[in-house]
Amino acid sequence: MDIVVIGGGACGLKAACRARRRNEEANITVVDASPYPSLGRCGLPYYIGGIVHTVDDLRKTLSGTVRDEDYFKKVKNIDVLTRTRAVKIDREKRIVKIVKPDGSEDELNYDYLVLATGARPIRLDIPNADADGVTTLFNPEDAEKILDMWDEGILEKAVIIGGGLIGMETAEALSNLDVEVTIVEIMDYILPALLDREMAMLVESYLREKGINVMTKSTVTEILTKDGRVSGVKINGTKEVPCDLVLMAVGVRPNVDLAVDCSLEVSKFGIKVDEYLRTSDERIFAGGDCVENKFLVTGDPIYTPMGSVANKHGRVIGDNITGGSSRFPGVLGTTIFKIFDLNVARTGLTEKRARELGYDVVTCLVPGPDRAHYYPHQKPIRIKLIADRKTGRILGAQIVGWGVVDKRIDVVVSAMHMNATVHDLANFDLAYAPPYAPAIDTLIHAANTVRNKMDGLLETISSFELKEKLDKGEDFVILDIRYEDEVRKFKRIEDSRVVHIPYNELRERYKELPMDKEIVIICQIGNRAYDVYRFLKSKGFNCKVLDGGLAFWF
Ligand code: FAD
Repeated sequence: MDIVVIGGGACGLKAACRARRRNEEANITVVDASPYPSLGRCGLPYYIGGIVHTVDDLRKTLSGTVRDEDYFKKVKNIDVLTRTRAVKIDREKRIVKIVKPDGSEDELNYDYLVLATGARPIRLDIPNADADGVTTLFNPEDAEKILDMWDEGILEKAVIIGGGLIGMETAEALSNLDVEVTIVEIMDYILPALLDREMAMLVESYLREKGINVMTKSTVTEILTKDGRVSGVKINGTKEVPCDLVLMAVGVRPNVDLAVDCSLEVSKFGIKVDEYLRTSDERIFAGGDCVENKFLVTGDPIYTPMGSVANKHGRVIGDNITGGSSRFPGVLGTTIFKIFDLNVARTGLTEKRARELGYDVVTCLVPGPDRAHYYPHQKPIRIKLIADRKTGRILGAQIVGWGVVDKRIDVVVSAMHMNATVHDLANFDLAYAPPYAPAIDTLIHAANTVRNKMDGLLETISSFELKEKLDKGEDFVILDIRYEDEVRKFKRIEDSRVVHIPYNELRERYKELPMDKEIVIICQIGNRAYDVYRFLKSKGFNCKVLDGGLAFWF
């Protein structure tokens, strides 16, 4: 049996290796246009930032062997043709035409063909987009270009267009090189595809603390040059920001040229595949960044170019081209990254998207510790859970913090894969000992907060709504129940409508509060405010809690 794989990245090589493990007899050939098969692109920002030292480190096995052509031939008996481009697929004759590194053409026969052609970075069509010093970050060559500029001492200031995952990771990398970084984001907050506004603002204010300039609601309309090199960018047609490097980090598109050319079914999200990752031709499978995925929350098609997904696709394809029948159910859009010491993770729908889709949504903002509050080195995390109000089904989650967020997001992901509700999540038997988690994990606390809201036991107001009330000059009371030292030490709302009655005096002094005005109760993270809310409600007050407490006051 002849298996040809086009694309020697995460998906293609995983498919080839899995196929080999299941079939020792098959002839397996991988065609890859790049010189670097098996490259972990995800590591490129860390290569720029000096955490990973060579490009080959991004292609090594656990035991340190570089996964090059030689490795694949000797260890796996897989022929990997690098610097070789597939240019045409003849579906009738089952032939792939290739162009070899010397420019000569050849043909490969297949019984099964795998398309794993990945994605292409989007380059904005703006004046001077091809000037020296403009790049994307997709290939090792891009990283080398940036590092060469730094070595030559001509990289002091960088503008990153796009406040998404790659923009964030590269901002940290460049900052590690002492480059002054400005992130320019067209939307009114960064990470708009991944986070809701208040969660993104946690990241944004941290970026500013770390000396990164963030410009939202801003578009780079022109790249400015001097002698053919980048000298700056023009923002919104007026403001000029000087820089030596412009990094376009505005996303990728599926690389579907070959599929379109041979008339496979393709949508705007990529090559169409069924749950076995078979294309509209039963002899051709496709996976990774070039295909459309199914979004498990809604069942709709989605484009999710992620290494985690591409690897899983590869395994499923490797099974199915060797007689297996593995399925890939779909994705939740799970993403995680770090920026300096801050961890950011998300899955499923954002609140904004869920509302746009017509869900009756209930959410919570829960700040808390990542381990027992008395245990040394506990660090804060902030959780947003999004659920369907009627059923309690979990629709999405976002977690930002200095503490451990990865295990929490993965618990939510597991729950969502099983269609769990917040009621299920609230009683998950999660691991607990003080060095690992609070006795009631902050995630379980978040699930319970959503349940309280569903049961009518808690009503909150967001910091944006509260600001608007203040700005409009509404007549209401903000009740700050923190202790004196907290008020002195942490941020506070400076306004004549703020009344301060500490938590431990409230049962004695609540009669000082007006019965005829709305009261917004605030504390540091919302816990104590909930207690006070229940008490004041029982006395007939009209009150609400600031969602997430002052941890979400920007
Ligand atoms: P690729 O790995 O891109 O491989 C496709 C291969 O096909 C390429 O080598 C290309 O040269 C070859 N090819 C294309 N056309 C042809 C042709 N006609 N003939 C021959 N060869 C061809 N994902 C995560 O999950 N987490 C992360 O943290 C993360 N970080 C990232 C950071 C950066 C900077 C980048 C760029 C990506 C990141 N990703 C991350 C995304 C991840 O790298 C991709 O999802 C993954 O590489 C996709 O694998 P793939 O096999 O589909 O495509």
